[in-house]
Amino acid sequence: MQFNNTWHDELEGFYTRVAPMPLKGARLLYHSGSLARELGMDDEAVRGNSAVLSGEALLPGMQPLAQVYSGHQFGVWAGQLGDGRGILLGEQQLPDGKKWDWHLKGAGLTPYSRMGDGRAVLRSTLREFLASEAMHHLGVPTSRALSVIASDEPVYRETVERGAMLLRVAESHLRFGHFEHVFYARQPDKVRQLADYAIRHHWPQWQKEQDRYLLWFSDVVKRTARMIARWQSVGFAHGVMNTDNMSILGLTLDYGPYGFLDDYQPDFICNHSDYEGRYSFENQPMIGLWNLNRLAHALSDLLTTEQLKQALAGYETELMRSWGELMRAKLGLVTQSQEDNDLLTGLLSLMTREGSDYTLTFRLLSATERQQAQSPLRDEFIDRDAFDNWYTLYRRRLAQEEISDAVRQQQMKLANPAIVLRNYLAQAAIEAAEKEDISVLTRLHQALSNPFEDAPAFADLTRRPPDWGKKLEVSCSS
Ligand code: AMP
Ligand code: MG
Repeated sequence: MQFNNTWHDELEGFYTRVAPMPLKGARLLYHSGSLARELGMDDEAVRGNSAVLSGEALLPGMQPLAQVYSGHQFGVWAGQLGDGRGILLGEQQLPDGKKWDWHLKGAGLTPYSRMGDGRAVLRSTLREFLASEAMHHLGVPTSRALSVIASDEPVYRETVERGAMLLRVAESHLRFGHFEHVFYARQPDKVRQLADYAIRHHWPQWQKEQDRYLLWFSDVVKRTARMIARWQSVGFAHGVMNTDNMSILGLTLDYGPYGFLDDYQPDFICNHSDYEGRYSFENQPMIGLWNLNRLAHALSDLLTTEQLKQALAGYETELMRSWGELMRAKLGLVTQSQEDNDLLTGLLSLMTREGSDYTLTFRLLSATERQQAQSPLRDEFIDRDAFDNWYTLYRRRLAQEEISDAVRQQQMKLANPAIVLRNYLAQAAIEAAEKEDISVLTRLHQALSNPFEDAPAFADLTRRPPDWGKKLEVSCSS
């Protein structure tokens, strides 16, 4: 495996060199075999490298460092933040030219730890592992997770938990907050240096273009729009959309108190520390734009106000285009028609009134037979008349489509997952893993790796939450 660290070599002043601090009794608890293979490793190689995954050893070429960034948290300028418990070990260079940051989360104190202990607990580490793998397999751009290290080291949160480490990989950990950091420190040369770095490594096709900064920022806007459209389509709420958690590459980053919708509830707030619901499910598209405005401000020495406005104007169009496409696929509509928007809104408002399960409703809809006035979905609604009315319109709309029921059903199943990472599923896997039993985790990870399949063996994982699972509270404490 080949490593270097371009962040270290090309961005002096944007980091502090720091070595990971190992945990007492560290052991490899779990890893993703499929991701390992993408990175050129087999299971044996992962186990052989467990000292690297637990911060006890480095591979040749790695240069561990903590990145410095700032950000707006809950709408307020928070000043300097930075990697307070994560360390960028190095960047893996794959033979196909791809590059992956290896970032060890929970690796100990850094100059940016502030009041924190530099640690992550097993619970939050498993939640991030499962969520990033689930999102990847749902087709959402995201960081990935290679391995989870468990330990005997006590870590103090609301109760005593145990320390853990996550080896996270991503094409880049470049955040909106990196740009804000140098902009607010009044270092316009550094803003430019960072933009040049981003373009050189991630948008090399535009390096020589005169208007490269405009092209680049316009693409950041569109990637962000597409990422959020995908969140909305799979029913994912991030929970902490602060600008320090926003990726320049449009990847879902920093999984904390996230939640997948059970009941369709547009004002769903997954983070119990978000008292005002700033980051509620339905607010995410608007917050994405708010965050991009903060980034635009940080780029105001690189681009004119007109250029920034021009790029930002692409957000809503791209979000609506992408979301519309994804939602039409969920309804099984291949062609476009005037009435599609009303049809979708009609179903969503019915689901809101009834508190229908977001994932199950669309999955059941995928079985629609155009000629059958009765749907298995009907029994899920209390107001059957309202459902029947909607369903009549829906079947009428399907009659304009030229594909057969069989083909449409197959395509709809590829747009409507059978399984998402509901909080109660993650919780069950965590509770078992805390007792050294990884069977629940293994099985859940397997099911989440093929979310669009009808897998009778995993039918129990597709159910609505039991009562205890509805009341789980997640907060920023991790
Ligand atoms: P988050 O809300 O998880 O994105 O974290 C915001 C900031 O707090 C980031 O700079 C983190 O690195 C830092 N942070 C979170 N938890 C800890 C911790 N336990 N120790 C040190 N820094 C932390
Ligand atoms: Mg963060």
